[in-house]
Amino acid sequence: MSDLFDKFQPLIDQREALLSSGVTDPFNLVMEKVESPTVAICNGRRTILLGTYNYMGMTFDPDVVEAGQQALADYGSGTTGSRVLNGTYAGHKACEEALRDFYAMDHAMVFSTGYQANLGIISTIAGKDDYIILDIDSHASIYDGCALGNAQIVPFRHNDVEALEKRLKRLPPEAGKLVVLEGVYSMLGDIAPLKEMVAVSKAAGAMVLVDEAHSMGFIGEHGRGVAEEQGVIDDIDFIIGTFSKSVGTVGGFCVSNHPKFEILRLVCRPYVFTASLPPSVVATAATSIRKLMHGSNKRAHLWENSKRLHGGLRQLGFTLGTEEPQSAIIAVIMPDLEKGAAMWEALLNEGVYVNLARPPATPAGMTLLRCSLCAEHSSEQVEEILGKFERAGRASGCLDTH
Ligand code: PMP
Repeated sequence: MSDLFDKFQPLIDQREALLSSGVTDPFNLVMEKVESPTVAICNGRRTILLGTYNYMGMTFDPDVVEAGQQALADYGSGTTGSRVLNGTYAGHKACEEALRDFYAMDHAMVFSTGYQANLGIISTIAGKDDYIILDIDSHASIYDGCALGNAQIVPFRHNDVEALEKRLKRLPPEAGKLVVLEGVYSMLGDIAPLKEMVAVSKAAGAMVLVDEAHSMGFIGEHGRGVAEEQGVIDDIDFIIGTFSKSVGTVGGFCVSNHPKFEILRLVCRPYVFTASLPPSVVATAATSIRKLMHGSNKRAHLWENSKRLHGGLRQLGFTLGTEEPQSAIIAVIMPDLEKGAAMWEALLNEGVYVNLARPPATPAGMTLLRCSLCAEHSSEQVEEILGKFERAGRASGCLDTH
């Protein structure tokens, strides 16, 4: 009998073939206990976490945890309502205020996830007759936002300024245009040439949205992201971000200086038609965001970790996603899914967790072992990780055994 699940058969077959080789399912790992931002118990074993987005290690920050506990006691476990009805508590307002202060911008709107922030903002500001010009390697939430709003999608080659300019020049001059970029691209950990891209976008009369999910708290003098680092933050119309990475909880947001921004609260469906974040979540987010404003020491240590891991992995002979470390993400390129899964499992057996990433999440059909560093990784842990990569590389056949 055929049914609507037939289209998944190739994926079901591929998955079954992979698991029949006896490899642990890389997409079904359980964290049995989480001891700190960098250590968890998986399969009963102490495991160093090298595949989280906990860049600044805020998940166990005592002030953050206390703020969440207090809000849980004071306001209960959830709001049970939309932001535009009964779901705006003092904590949601305080969280938006923390974001305005963090980015030094006029407006901040908090969503229930970063995915919804992209979905909501993109679909609401760019409709059927508008054009969205976006990097072809954009995150799924960006593509889904384009689809939800029915805009005309014009992709351009990853990080290619000339390609962007060429696409912009071909569009009708009077049409509404939104250029969507990311500060850090999370698969390879590379950053965008925002300075040049913003210049060509503005010259073409386009608005610019930058997703800074993977740079917040870490890149830029105040941790505002790649746009800050490259000196173009004032030319960006909308910054999208998430609480699920450096902030250490869950939620998403958009900040902007657009004078009419607040109207979005009434017309943005993924903001209106869903329940707001629990009070404990916005309390932890606000506390974390305010602490991230003063995180320069942690940022410096995170850069050290990123450089050491990048250099060490390269020396071991692994092929990496970038020539130089550009962010807290170091991607190790695997020859294929089978080798990738074997290496992933060998690392787990050594006691290191990384993300195994595969198409459609990855560009150019690549299988990647994505390592993401945390400011709380000690220098000793980074050395330990390198030793484990060497042993796992030999055990899985990814490195020569001589
Ligand atoms: N944008 C980018 C670039 C992301 O990588 C992610 C999540 N990986 C999101 C948005 C969505 O964030 P969230 O987890 O808050 O939904």
